[in-house]
Amino acid sequence: VKASNSLSFSLQAKMSRPVQARRLEGIDKNIWVEFVKLAATYSKVNLGQGFPDFPAPDFLTEAFMRALSGGNHMLHQYTRAFGHPPLVKVLAQFFEKLLGRDLDPMTNVMVTVGAYQALFCCFQALVDEGDEVIIIEPFFDCYEPMVKMAGGTPVFVPLRPNPPKDGKLMSSADWQLDPGELASKFSERTKAIVLNSPNNPLGKVFSRGELGLIAELCVKHDVLCISDEVYEWLVYDGKQHIRIASLDGMWDRTVIVGSAGKTFSATGWKVGWVVGPDRLLQHLRTVHQNSVYHCATIAQEAVAQGFQRELMLYGKPESYFVQLPKELQQKRDWLVQSLDGMGMKPIVPEGTYFLVADISQFKSDVPDVPNSDEPYDCRFAKWMVKNKGLAAIPLSAFYSEAHKNNYTNFIRFCFAKEEATLKAANDILQKWKQEKTS
Ligand code: PMP
Repeated sequence: VKASNSLSFSLQAKMSRPVQARRLEGIDKNIWVEFVKLAATYSKVNLGQGFPDFPAPDFLTEAFMRALSGGNHMLHQYTRAFGHPPLVKVLAQFFEKLLGRDLDPMTNVMVTVGAYQALFCCFQALVDEGDEVIIIEPFFDCYEPMVKMAGGTPVFVPLRPNPPKDGKLMSSADWQLDPGELASKFSERTKAIVLNSPNNPLGKVFSRGELGLIAELCVKHDVLCISDEVYEWLVYDGKQHIRIASLDGMWDRTVIVGSAGKTFSATGWKVGWVVGPDRLLQHLRTVHQNSVYHCATIAQEAVAQGFQRELMLYGKPESYFVQLPKELQQKRDWLVQSLDGMGMKPIVPEGTYFLVADISQFKSDVPDVPNSDEPYDCRFAKWMVKNKGLAAIPLSAFYSEAHKNNYTNFIRFCFAKEEATLKAANDILQKWKQEKTS
């Protein structure tokens, strides 16, 4: 009797009620899960996900080793919740220089678990149920689910491609906002706009004029700006990264998001930060203290030392922030050449790790399937990794559901890779070209 009682009890104990919180509805799919797995299974050369395969600089890894095994055993313990003091101090000094204003390390800077958690804090702290958040397409894909999780409604506005003149290669600068269209997205419901310059995936570096237009609309409609600047040092051809927070009326309404991962080529360390006015950051601190609370002390200590070095060498040829973009520009140019030589027209990026290329001339390799649920670029990228061993990411992954079918002829490559990796990619592309022409 006892046994059957416990059996019926355990049957009843099986849960049947829905367990998923409503805020997760519709955001469970994530392109990276699928494409990272495909790359791991099939790729010989992985130019998909955005991380370098070259080492982080010696001065940074040496700083980490010193922090790990130097005399200060307290670096193995918790540090200040809102940022390890040496790191927030040097970040404040650095951004004082960049923004031309005084900053308080304790209230104008907060350290996060990568830029990803910085973004999460921004949306959770600043977006309410019913608020609208403007997102410029194509966009780093996490903005949309993060806005939704906060109860907000994303409102999308696309960068529109203008064909280049006289047969030149297209540049990321040829993708522009339509000023009237952008203005039409602002209303009394708009709480914030997300700006990502330099932009992932296009590599677009917004000009002063474009930023001025966004700033004017933010001020006119009293809107916040979440400015994702993780690629701030990765700008090419002598272009300049302009910080929207430095434009008139913007400091007070902007949160700048940054990443040591991209800044020092150490994406696995997951050290990020926000810089902004205390009246905004105080609310981000509330999210941080009720979720993550602390970030790894040793990584923060090492990043602090990296910034101290860069502060000393600021603008000098030995500075990593001067050297890294030079090296990446060379890598960009190699990949541009490889793709152009193969008929996969590259859109030359002005910044970032990424390059978007046009695959519309490849219908003989991967034919169109009319009325397919899967965008062409997704099918193409899957075919390419399985048949050619080369991994890239479909551009439609960086668009909202409503707009992704307008941009299905492009894929994104990451060129922050060793010369040997880019040569191996070139070999694949050249072999492919020979097969097509023979
Ligand atoms: N923003 C953008 C635009 C990115 O591309 C990335 C990383 N791919 C992040 C934020 C997240 O950076 P982190 O690795 O520091 O969390």
